[in-house]
Amino acid sequence: MAVKVSEYFERYQGPRVQGPAWLPMPPWTVKLPLVDTDLAREVSKHQSPDMLAALTRAKISEFPEYVHIYTDASRSPAGIVGVGGLVRSQSFGIERRFMGRITDGSTVYTGELAAITNALYLIHTVSELRGSRKFVIFSDSLSVLRSFERGCCRTRPYLFAQALVELDDIRQMSAHVELVWIPSHIGIQGNEIADELAGKGASMPQVTIDTGLELHEAYSDVERFIVAKWQSEWTSDSTGSHLRKIEPTVGKKTRLVFRSRPSETLAHRLRLGVCWVNACLCKIGCSQTDLCSQCQVPETVEHLLFQCTSNIVTRVKQKCEELSIPLTLESVLNSCLVLETIREALDRRL
Ligand SMILES: [Zn+2]
Repeated sequence: MAVKVSEYFERYQGPRVQGPAWLPMPPWTVKLPLVDTDLAREVSKHQSPDMLAALTRAKISEFPEYVHIYTDASRSPAGIVGVGGLVRSQSFGIERRFMGRITDGSTVYTGELAAITNALYLIHTVSELRGSRKFVIFSDSLSVLRSFERGCCRTRPYLFAQALVELDDIRQMSAHVELVWIPSHIGIQGNEIADELAGKGASMPQVTIDTGLELHEAYSDVERFIVAKWQSEWTSDSTGSHLRKIEPTVGKKTRLVFRSRPSETLAHRLRLGVCWVNACLCKIGCSQTDLCSQCQVPETVEHLLFQCTSNIVTRVKQKCEELSIPLTLESVLNSCLVLETIREALDRRL
């Protein structure tokens, strides 16, 4: 493994990677915020947008004396993640907006978490907000809010710990923060503004919020590098052309499940192109000819399945039509049902 990834580390010039770190305070003193995900249970995507908007407005109206904060993250087609947020208090006459571009290679989940962390940072650092004691953050990321409910985050533990530290600082100021899930893209003004700011953040020319990467994302990056290298070696390899026609893409986790061991054995022989056809037998000196006894052309797996005069060709064609799959080597040898049909139709050993 070390040899496989050494090339990756020799070339690596990406963002800093944050390893695991302890919370600065004892974990048993950590108090999780109140998280309200009731709307996620009450609404479904199939409900009309008007109904969703009405339910969401009703939820928002449950927090009349709070400072309302909307956060969002957005990913551009180029894979850049931006964050945005709106802080609004009508009673204090406050309206502040923030946006930024986080470290390249981050996920939308990280963006949503970074947006909430940034909002928490504003709560205890912006002097205009010092007079307020009650804050509610509306986020459309159910996965991030679930992390706050559980009190742990597997993919971004360090950033999550930073959010917990911010929450602890806010608690020291005797202020109170609640996190509430709301659905997105239903015309809720605060959410729309946060979404627009996040979109603008993603189109900023440079990273403005250095969230770095954490181990989970770094592992994915190493995996992408190795799979790309494996793919380029596989594509340009001089051997294995038969299997390459069936499996042109590496790293794809397809699992073929067969009814019996003989079916599985036959399937893998056909997929590898190494079985009892004359073209193979001749190579190892077990047959004097590589030609098909009926057609007088080289007897390969392709010939046997698609060109020969035997009944296998007819059965394969019928099964492909029945399953609406193309009559190609790749689709035939990737379908368990067609492979089972081939075994049933065989009147010889392969
Ligand atoms: Zn033939």
